[in-house]
Amino acid sequence: MMMKKLDKKATEFTVNLALLEEDGSFQCPKCGRSISPDDASEETYQIMDTKVVNNELSELIISCGKCQSIIRLTGFPVGFDA
Ligand SMILES: [Zn+2]
Repeated sequence: MMMKKLDKKATEFTVNLALLEEDGSFQCPKCGRSISPDDASEETYQIMDTKVVNNELSELIISCGKCQSIIRLTGFPVGFDA
């Protein structure tokens, strides 16, 4: 059953990291802003929530720093250093 967790008007997207370039960067599905997980500045994105399963990072939910879209990152490789 789906729970409405983020009660905001922001659109939510899902990005599968397993399908991305090697450096893990991707573009915001809405505004096209380039987002790199290595960029820790909150100008690019803000971390909203993380989901850890069996001590492995399972999901990272971020907010685009430009358009505030919610982007749910999935597909982290096993052993990803959170
Ligand atoms: Zn955006």
